[in-house]
Amino acid sequence: MPFSTLGLSAPLLRAIADAGYTTPSPIQLQAIPAVLGGHDLLAAAQTGTGKTAGFALPILHRISQKSYGNNRPVRVLILTPTRELAAQVGESVGKYGAHLHPRLKTEVVFGGVKINPQMMRLRGGVDVLVATPGRLLDLISQNAAKLDKVETLVLDEADRMLDMGFIRDIRKIIALLPKKRQNLLFSATFSDDIRKLTIGLLVNPIKIEVAPRNTAAELVEQIAYLVNKTDKAKLLCHLIKEKDWRQVLVFTTTKHGANRLTEKLNKVDIKAAAIHGNKSQGARTSALAGFKAGEIRVLVATDVAARGIDIALLPHVVNFELPRAPEDYVHRIGRTGRAGEAGQAISLVSHEEYSFLRLIEKLIGNSIKREQIAGFEASEIAPPEPPKPVRSTRPGRNSNQPRKPAANLTNSRFRTNAGV
Ligand code: AMP
Repeated sequence: MPFSTLGLSAPLLRAIADAGYTTPSPIQLQAIPAVLGGHDLLAAAQTGTGKTAGFALPILHRISQKSYGNNRPVRVLILTPTRELAAQVGESVGKYGAHLHPRLKTEVVFGGVKINPQMMRLRGGVDVLVATPGRLLDLISQNAAKLDKVETLVLDEADRMLDMGFIRDIRKIIALLPKKRQNLLFSATFSDDIRKLTIGLLVNPIKIEVAPRNTAAELVEQIAYLVNKTDKAKLLCHLIKEKDWRQVLVFTTTKHGANRLTEKLNKVDIKAAAIHGNKSQGARTSALAGFKAGEIRVLVATDVAARGIDIALLPHVVNFELPRAPEDYVHRIGRTGRAGEAGQAISLVSHEEYSFLRLIEKLIGNSIKREQIAGFEASEIAPPEPPKPVRSTRPGRNSNQPRKPAANLTNSRFRTNAGV
């Protein structure tokens, strides 16, 4: 089904064509008509599914139907967990709205940078405000932002916002919004906390879940290299050089670990940069830009920093350490998988991490191939045979069960067509 059948206005269809999109992704097919119809939405979707266009296009359609002239109250508020995601969403909204007349104004505000320029930019009024919760509250307390005319609220990556401890800020923000409004909630997983948040927030929401399969099984080749903890950095350098990897996203569990690994890689002339919460916004932006441009070969990231970053055509993702939360593994490896080709997700697993490996296998319902590289073999005994594949049930029904992530583009034809 082409975009033209979804009811979007001509300027938006032109922007879609400019972006090179030919077919709506599964989430877009469902979300666009629902949002156009004014419904609340509860959507299971993560980065890579095309969710941003799924909410931004119909929102832009709706608000562009009515102009407020020069008196521009915030009519759309999009909350995101991280600065990077906020910036990315702001960019997408600007891109999709490029042909609208009159032009809508979109602003992005987040912490970690000076507040004054943001206050100045908000002064002339904005139609769409993309914000991280803490900074938005700061701006409100300084009278730089008002939310009493918001028509649509989007909570993007709601699960991550809760993981990052934003629940109180989110509730404070919601209390400042008009009672009558449209609410859209996007989340990769549905924990009890998310369910609690949706009560009283969403009114008869349309529920969207793209086919509940996950990325892990198919287009991503997954290997666990069993290795001693102390040999991991050397093994990583070896793999990068030996296999001539040109663009690798490496995950560490701690900021400190990310810094240490980055130093080690740079020492052996593998150009690397770290991206995590302690880095200034400038450093994060330039690391990401350098990585996208191919000037930086290895981007070392923590989960929080990497969440939501859209990097096209990433051939290799490495788990330098396995994540403690198995669903983070799925988010991580969702970053690989070239258009139509298999991506590679490599995990460097020391014997201390075998229990995490098993939890991940339980979540994805598959075993991960174990291998050893000559010269870097693990000295501890190999782990027992992986469990038989277990299909997890619907996410979050029982908090003891592993939560199943939302489907991702890597599984759909869309991913192949999209070249994302
Ligand atoms: P998102 O999940 O919103 O972060 O989007 C992931 C990527 O898919 C972004 O690079 C978008 O530009 C791209 N994208 C979104 N919708 C489409 C589409 N219908 N066709 C091709 N690419 C798309």
